[in-house]
Amino acid sequence: MIKESQRLPEKANQKYTVDAGDYFIRYVPAGATFRFVDLEGNQAADTLFYNAHNPAERYSATDTIREQGNVYLTAGSQLRSNENNIMLEIVADTCGRHDTLGGACATESNTVRYDLEKRCMHACRDSWMLAISENPKFGLDKRDISHNINFFMNVPVTEAGGLTFEDGISAPGKYVEMKAEMDLIVLISNCPQLNNPCNGYNPTPIDVLVWEA
Ligand SMILES: [Zn+2]
Repeated sequence: MIKESQRLPEKANQKYTVDAGDYFIRYVPAGATFRFVDLEGNQAADTLFYNAHNPAERYSATDTIREQGNVYLTAGSQLRSNENNIMLEIVADTCGRHDTLGGACATESNTVRYDLEKRCMHACRDSWMLAISENPKFGLDKRDISHNINFFMNVPVTEAGGLTFEDGISAPGKYVEMKAEMDLIVLISNCPQLNNPCNGYNPTPIDVLVWEA
């Protein structure tokens, strides 16, 4: 569902640019609203959320899909934890649809999907691992890397019930905006994938804007 935001970028308290292939890890307090901007279009922002006070509580695709009765995420979606608490709500979305079924790229999946020689290519799971190892203050461990949201990524469900990776439906400047309903750790891998049409075979940067309550 397309829903524009009334928030002004110049009034944001924090602004970050996350380069293609880089990670982002930050605390975001309850009540804050934040926006991911797909600067050049067709990017995928592979994102995990945790309860800042108890990282064992984290974003759950299964709880979110079950409760909303829809596999796609968009404005109005409430993003739930593995304890079925509402962690965030998507409050604006100019892309229209985001994936939470496709998972994140890994050296192993690159090998299976594309070619044995792709094994050494940079992948989202490695970016998450680098983020948590370089930032021990968040208290995250390898076992906390779980299912994720692929913001801006187009993974339609076919009539037969399968999943396909398709050319993106995002475009330059499209954004998704969320309100934090609990104190959060936000962990993004701005996907470095070069083999997948979701990225337009060309990973590009995203912006993260935060408006504190
Ligand atoms: Zn990726």
